[in-house]
Amino acid sequence: MSITIALSKGRIYEETLPLLAAAGITVAEDPEKSRKLIFPTNQPDVRVVLVRASDVPVYVQYGGADLGVSGLDSLIEHGGQGLYQPLDLQIAQCRVSVAVRADFDYEAAVQQGGRLKIATKYTTIAREFFAQKGVHVDMVKLYGSMELAPLTGMADAIVDLVSTGSTLKANNLVEVERIMDISSRLVVNQAALKLKQQRLRPIIDAFAGAIGKD
Ligand code: ATP
Ligand code: MG
Repeated sequence: MSITIALSKGRIYEETLPLLAAAGITVAEDPEKSRKLIFPTNQPDVRVVLVRASDVPVYVQYGGADLGVSGLDSLIEHGGQGLYQPLDLQIAQCRVSVAVRADFDYEAAVQQGGRLKIATKYTTIAREFFAQKGVHVDMVKLYGSMELAPLTGMADAIVDLVSTGSTLKANNLVEVERIMDISSRLVVNQAALKLKQQRLRPIIDAFAGAIGKD
């Protein structure tokens, strides 16, 4: 009855390490310096797999991993089916915002009842947000470098993650609306939680303790 933990490279991996340590789990090798995808830990029955951030909920949903750490953004886009979400880990904090070119009159565009062309990786979040505002949108799905879309005239606005705002600034874009605050969540496969309760519970409890929620 081994345990597989799905993480993504970069900030989620880095910020999850101390939580794993609180559960007595240390990863044997530095994944940032390796091309491997599966990493053993000091616990013979626990391994870590590294996947794309947006694939973490998918691996956990289908049992490719028993638990994982996923940004709320990825989780909303995924839908959360089959996932138990016991903890807001309060790591990888940022926000989802609307941004436009500095010379674009967003207020006027939104008020006129016309259509707004949005480029984003976060189509579910964007659709829901503009539907609530009563603004009609044409959605262009992108997978990265959203900032480019308004600069090339492909879109009026983007919906993207923002933390310091320096990427927007570097590309002459301005944040015009904040849609939601984002942090990463612990996600657990619902079937695994029942079948591997004994092994998973202490890990979940250790994570809770490490973030001061025990
Ligand atoms: P990929 O690069 O594989 O397309 P990604 O860009 O979503 O995926 P990361 O940049 O590692 O991957 O982001 C992982 C998660 O961290 C995001 O889903 C989000 O929740 C959060 N995040 C992204 N950018 C920031 C940021 N600048 N500051 C804080 N948290 C962030
Ligand atoms: Mg990224």
